[in-house]
Amino acid sequence: NSVKGNDHHVAVYRESMRENLLREQEITNSMEAGIKNREFKIYMQPKCNMESGKVVGAEALVRWQHPQKGLLLPGDFVPLFEKNHFIEKLDLYVWEETAAWIRRWLDKGGTCVPVSVNLSRMDIFDMDVCSVLTDIMERYHIPSGLIELEITESVYAGQSERIIKETERLKKNGFTILMDDFGNGYSSLNMLSSTNIDILKMDMHFMEGEGLKSLGILDAILHMSKWLNLPVIAEGVNREEHVKTLRSVGCVYGQGFYYYCPMSIEEFEDLLLAPDKVDFCDGGKKRVES
Ligand code: C2E
Ligand code: MG
Ligand code: MG
Ligand code: MG
Repeated sequence: NSVKGNDHHVAVYRESMRENLLREQEITNSMEAGIKNREFKIYMQPKCNMESGKVVGAEALVRWQHPQKGLLLPGDFVPLFEKNHFIEKLDLYVWEETAAWIRRWLDKGGTCVPVSVNLSRMDIFDMDVCSVLTDIMERYHIPSGLIELEITESVYAGQSERIIKETERLKKNGFTILMDDFGNGYSSLNMLSSTNIDILKMDMHFMEGEGLKSLGILDAILHMSKWLNLPVIAEGVNREEHVKTLRSVGCVYGQGFYYYCPMSIEEFEDLLLAPDKVDFCDGGKKRVES
């Protein structure tokens, strides 16, 4: 009986592997058409000052309106695109689309908060990312500082020459660099002092913990960021208690479902038009108070 059970498990395992391969194959087969037919959409998630509750920035997050599969989230395709190197093409598209929207919005007389885009490891290691991004800023006449760059913590792991050089170049060209998912487990603390980072985005898993121990960790991160002169944005702020806890340790900025979920460009434009909801002068760079 137990042998039979094992066989069954093996069969189920094989079946799910096969399904995964099929799924990956379908996504791979439709990705080029996805770009060509403009199926990838930019959503914006606002970042807030938790003292005023006002929007001070936003993050551009990609979604895929797939003709057969419906609306796909990055988790459904970004890891695969990082494996098959399509991510460079997708990110280029996302950056262009973001810049094109900002240009249209400014031309219509709108005011914009800084918008960050996400970079994958390959963008930094396999392409001349600084030239590419600088070219986009120039072609769309985007004021310096209006597009910021999120680089996930794991990219910094190992402190390779490449990441140090590239981030240095990007900073010299006017880009603000945010370290994304900080505390996810890849970084050693001392690399924060030696790399070119302007803002820390604290990974959302810190929001899940409860009790004094997790409060101590939050407090320690905020103290450290103060010494390093790094503003902190907490990710995954989805409850009022999160806001209270974060404010009690002096964290000024937060992003999460408690404030806003990622929204369409149209909804984001409406938000930018609400004067009581946005602070265009707070660029999200306020340091923690002592
Ligand atoms: P990320 O850069 O850390 O983005 C934050 C993710 O957390 C987003 O998921 C967002 O929807 C989600 N989130 C925001 N607030 C909350 C909250 O309060 N609770 C919870 N549970 N989640 C929250 P999303 O849009 O599914 O993106 C997932 C990841 O995919 C991103 O993580 C980023 O690493 C990657 N990604 C998204 N867009 C792009 C892109 O254009 N290029 C690249 N290379 N990666 C991207
Ligand atoms: Mg991000
Ligand atoms: Mg993040
Ligand atoms: Mg994250």
